[in-house]
Amino acid sequence: MPKVELHVHLEGSFDAARIAELAREAGEAMPYDKESVLSPSNLDELLTRLDWWCGLVRTPEQAERQAYDFATRLSADGVVYAEVIANPTHWSALSRDVLLEAVSAGFARAAAEGLCDAWLLVSLLRSQTSDEAIELVAALERRPPSRLVGLSIDGNEAATGPTGERFASAFELAGTIGLGRTAHAGESSGPEGVWSALDHLRVTRIDHGVRSIEDPRLVERLIDEAVTLDVCLTSNVRLLYGTIDLHPLRQLVDHGVAVTINTDDPATLGVSLTSEMELADNLCSWGVDGAIDATERAIAASFASESKASELRRKLDAFAAQVT
Ligand SMILES: [Zn+2]
Repeated sequence: MPKVELHVHLEGSFDAARIAELAREAGEAMPYDKESVLSPSNLDELLTRLDWWCGLVRTPEQAERQAYDFATRLSADGVVYAEVIANPTHWSALSRDVLLEAVSAGFARAAAEGLCDAWLLVSLLRSQTSDEAIELVAALERRPPSRLVGLSIDGNEAATGPTGERFASAFELAGTIGLGRTAHAGESSGPEGVWSALDHLRVTRIDHGVRSIEDPRLVERLIDEAVTLDVCLTSNVRLLYGTIDLHPLRQLVDHGVAVTINTDDPATLGVSLTSEMELADNLCSWGVDGAIDATERAIAASFASESKASELRRKLDAFAAQVT
């Protein structure tokens, strides 16, 4: 099935072999053994390791290669369109402009070869200041990376508390310059994080958002305002629920919330969009029709141009005609 992914981090696209290779190229010893480097025990540890391996990317060529290779990996899994989150704060060895242009170049090279059409969501880190956030968006306006489609925010809300107000001005500016807006919330935060993102950041999508199920008024609001939750099942099991049986995907779907299925950190978690779709099918018993519907919702919630969205719908319709 031609698939669409809206919640996936470039920082989570490094597999153990690539990390070892980058460490070798940088002349650094591996502080983790190769078998367990991708198995952090919690979100904080994951963010610490992301900082370390992204910091091993020392040249624009290495960043370009990572982006290109990731688009290749997505293609192999049947992903035809992706919006990939990149957070420059993790990539300490490259300047922001150099990083974002190198990643764009890797995605453009892949797209030109007919591989997955990958675009860029530049992400703020939740612990940044309001001024830093505004400066980032102003820089994106002055020199937009060629594959830029939107602004995102991630990081550990359990550590920072709701931060919607702090980033309201940056997200308002992003809207003014035509960027799509999405925010991580309702995972490391409870429903209050989702309220904060909706009230202050004016996002049309929430990354995760699964803990919205704990607040019936919030569920109603998500439906009323047609906000999409970009859910990542295995990631939520690993960092939040412990077991898939406790995941509220089915309840969210039954209530009528628009959800899409995504991988979050596919290499780190050892998952693909196909495997996550299968997991969703197990939970919701939605069959091929349900998978097609979820992909339609992803196209509708994407920040793709109208013509790109139409092209994706045609691909999906052609698939549906074959299998239904
Ligand atoms: Zn995420």
